Amino acid sequence: MGFKSDIEIAQEAVVQDIREIAKKLNLTEEDLDLYGKYKAKVDYNLMKRETGKQAKLILTTAINPTPAGEGKTTTTIGVADGLAKLGKNTLVALREPSLGPVFGVKGGAAGGGYAQVVPMEDINLHFTGDFHAIGAANNLLATMIDNHIYQGNALDIDPRRITWRRAMDMNDRQLRFITDGLGGKANGFPREDGFDITVASEVMAAFCLASDIMDLKERLGRIIIGYSRKGEPITAAQLNANGAMAALLKDALKPNLVQTLEGTPAFVHGGPFANIAHGCNSVIATKMAMHFADYVVTEAGFGADLGAEKFLDIKCRMSGLKPDAVIIVATVRALKYNGGVKKDQLNNENLEALENGLPNLLKHVENITKVFKLPAVVAINKFPLDTEAELQLVKDKCKELGVNVALSEVWAKGGEGGEELAKEVLRLIDENEGKFEFAYDENQSIKEKINAIATKIYGADGVDYTPNAEKQILEIEKIGYDKLPICMAKTQYSLTDDQTKLGRPTGFKITVRNIKVSAGAGFLVALTGEIMTMPGLPKAPAAEKIDVDSTGKIAGLF
Ligand code: ADP
Ligand code: MG
Repeated sequence: MGFKSDIEIAQEAVVQDIREIAKKLNLTEEDLDLYGKYKAKVDYNLMKRETGKQAKLILTTAINPTPAGEGKTTTTIGVADGLAKLGKNTLVALREPSLGPVFGVKGGAAGGGYAQVVPMEDINLHFTGDFHAIGAANNLLATMIDNHIYQGNALDIDPRRITWRRAMDMNDRQLRFITDGLGGKANGFPREDGFDITVASEVMAAFCLASDIMDLKERLGRIIIGYSRKGEPITAAQLNANGAMAALLKDALKPNLVQTLEGTPAFVHGGPFANIAHGCNSVIATKMAMHFADYVVTEAGFGADLGAEKFLDIKCRMSGLKPDAVIIVATVRALKYNGGVKKDQLNNENLEALENGLPNLLKHVENITKVFKLPAVVAINKFPLDTEAELQLVKDKCKELGVNVALSEVWAKGGEGGEELAKEVLRLIDENEGKFEFAYDENQSIKEKINAIATKIYGADGVDYTPNAEKQILEIEKIGYDKLPICMAKTQYSLTDDQTKLGRPTGFKITVRNIKVSAGAGFLVALTGEIMTMPGLPKAPAAEKIDVDSTGKIAGLF
């Protein structure tokens, strides 16, 4: 017997009126901007209302994944439903899916099986239009840059050193590098240009780190769009663009309220890349969630070496958030993969490889508990083909090593399958001693900060810099942006910067090739390789299977 697809499960679900969901948060219809029956935006001004609540914050992260993903979103939703089943007032905070991956390889990003947020079709396709608004703000700035130059270039912007790119929420490799402004004098001026996917736009990162609309406006103003002919950075504020950009984003900045299949409220809001940006939902959504519920479960992108590190060192540092417990998702598949099994062999039982993959998981557990000093539990996300012997082995080994562990069956069973994990999370929260620490101090030098991440989190011996990166560090120090936190851009598949090195490698260094200032987001991006900011579609894109019937019902989203 086959399993029901995610969209089949989602379409069979009884979805409640969003006003009923809002009641669970003591929010009335007056408090909502309704987007149809099942979606609403919640005004950030409601943060000013006294609720007396300051929720416990639970972060979900994972080991180094297989290309298919290990189920962080699914687990985040399922454990929230598990907490709700235990009678806890719970809210989920997640990223919004980008159309790029929806039509590309990955498909939907609204959870899976019986742990999903709904309406999944809407959430995956346009939703409430936030990403389009972010794209529009990005492109308003691009337009104003070119117009400024066209109209006389009072700021003396060097057209060859414009770093701001245009944006679209689509995997369109054709637009990566373009020449525009063709057609003669009346039609602009010719220059090399290009598009990034909207989720890679710095507007997205700034949007997700902003504490409120005024802070967003200031962040947008600090964005560096390129350099003058003298080599000085030019900002969006110098072009007087940030007010209008923020105006375009005033509704987008309100978190989107939806629900899980079991009626647990969920904020799905913002969605920056997890490589050149920090990879988690908006600060505003997390903070508002904590203002209206008692328990908030949220997710950080990629594995714990990237996602959790950035959640803690960037998002928490900027916003003052402190998680109370961390869930590290592991799967039998990913453990076998880290133990050396090839992708096409992952469905076969292999206890030896499983055991060989465990050191990867342990490194992530150590990072969370010893470096960041937060309580952690490993959630074994059970897949249909995992064998009893495999699941037992992971449990036994974790217990042997004193690592907290719980089996999670939320994909197959929803919240009921998340109760064991939810109970363990509650126990950890009770035990949390509040000793959270960052991996580095932002006032350290750029190299000290990168070194701290590489040695403490990745287990590297040190960091090499290309001559290009050395030069960039000097320039960044000169223009005074060196005291920002670091956003590492690295492969998600390995603790090293080489995606073929699996498990828990030792005796390696990472190489930093490029360092870029994201002054609006408020961090420095350290790139260890080429990072694609405009993905392409695969040979058989998911889009080929997506369809709509005469009644408007969507099919093929998985
Ligand atoms: P992540 O957030 O870590 O990228 P997701 O939660 O989005 O991962 O899950 C990735 C994919 O794997 C989704 O298609 C989801 O339906 C599927 N999946 C997750 N957990 C399970 C499971 N236990 N069994 C089967 N499929 C699963
Ligand atoms: Mg996810």
